[in-house]
Amino acid sequence: MTAYTLPPDKLAKALVLYHAGIWSYFGGTLWTVLVLYLLLRVGAGAAIRNLAARVTPRQLLQGFIVAPFWLVILTAIDLPISLALHHLNLRYGISVEPWSMWWIDFAKSLGLTLVVGTAVLSVLYLLIRRSPRRWWLWFWIISLPIELAAVFLVPIYIDPLFNHFSPLAKADPALVQQLERVSARGNLHIPPSRMFVMNASAKVTGPNAYVTGFGSSKRIVVWDTTIRELPTPQILAVYAHEQGHYVLHHIQKGMLFSALVTFIFFWIAFQLFRYVVLWRTRSFHISSLDDWSSLGALLLVVMVLGFFVDPVSNAFSRHIEHQADVYGEEAIHGLVPNPQATMAASFQRLGELWLEVPHPNPFVVFWTYSHPPTSYRMSFAAHYNPWAPGHHPRYIGPQSGDSIR
Ligand SMILES: [Zn+2]
Repeated sequence: MTAYTLPPDKLAKALVLYHAGIWSYFGGTLWTVLVLYLLLRVGAGAAIRNLAARVTPRQLLQGFIVAPFWLVILTAIDLPISLALHHLNLRYGISVEPWSMWWIDFAKSLGLTLVVGTAVLSVLYLLIRRSPRRWWLWFWIISLPIELAAVFLVPIYIDPLFNHFSPLAKADPALVQQLERVSARGNLHIPPSRMFVMNASAKVTGPNAYVTGFGSSKRIVVWDTTIRELPTPQILAVYAHEQGHYVLHHIQKGMLFSALVTFIFFWIAFQLFRYVVLWRTRSFHISSLDDWSSLGALLLVVMVLGFFVDPVSNAFSRHIEHQADVYGEEAIHGLVPNPQATMAASFQRLGELWLEVPHPNPFVVFWTYSHPPTSYRMSFAAHYNPWAPGHHPRYIGPQSGDSIR
């Protein structure tokens, strides 16, 4: 089997989820922009700033009121869409997370958003006041070490707030042994202490794995749903793909890429924000660029720009995901009976469990897909054969293969 297909009942469900995803993303962006615009037109920017000014005359302290206020507004605007999506995911069996747990996660992530968002916005407005022409550049420079620290700290301090992780060596020592054969195949020693299993089955049904962290916090995480749903050769295929991200330094490349994108993003945001404040001073009730009454306008600018950055970062993501697919298939060669068939079967299984549509619209893929469509990944895997005479593997040279047959 080389072409990804779904049986009629699963296809019908997949189409509903696919269309819901499109509506929630494109419609959700439009909805957020519209509500933000209306709030600005009725003078919410000045009203929230005035409220803070009544509490304290100091601008820095006003930020601790204005910033959380707007962050709560943004979360509230998005809430109906999040609720509808979780309802749908429960109904179609993608999610098994009870509403009580969902609300606890929601509260935790809102808390994080408030703390981190308020700190970031306070620094930003401090820079705007100090350097009216270059604040975007200073903000970008400051953002670089912060991003690095965030990538390092998230797997240690943030991820465990939402999911339970345990050493894979404890949960499934036999599997670790198998995985070590894949890492040896790539001339790489990922210590078992860097392999974790995540208790994803508390919330979702589909399998997954990922690489995260930086330096000593770098790790490979396999969801327990993967171990439950996939036969061992397919787990090796999924793991080999993740190992590809690890070996090909995709986290470092992703950070460099994001540094470049944010540089351009901040510069455009700077120009747009100036333009909006200049031309909408009256209709948005903004006193000046460096006054907290402009925060709503800044969020509107960031929202619109972020929408246009998505296809750029998704194109980058699809590119490295494809590289990891190629690497993964080469890494399991000689370890599973038929790497092409194993890889293709794993994509069929993943697509069925996550209810991925076989033929997504190319424009939707271009704008919103972080991975190539399942149909593409599956047919590529089925036909990729660098071991044929006259061809060469891209990442892993030929070896005398041992086999688990
Ligand atoms: Zn990947």
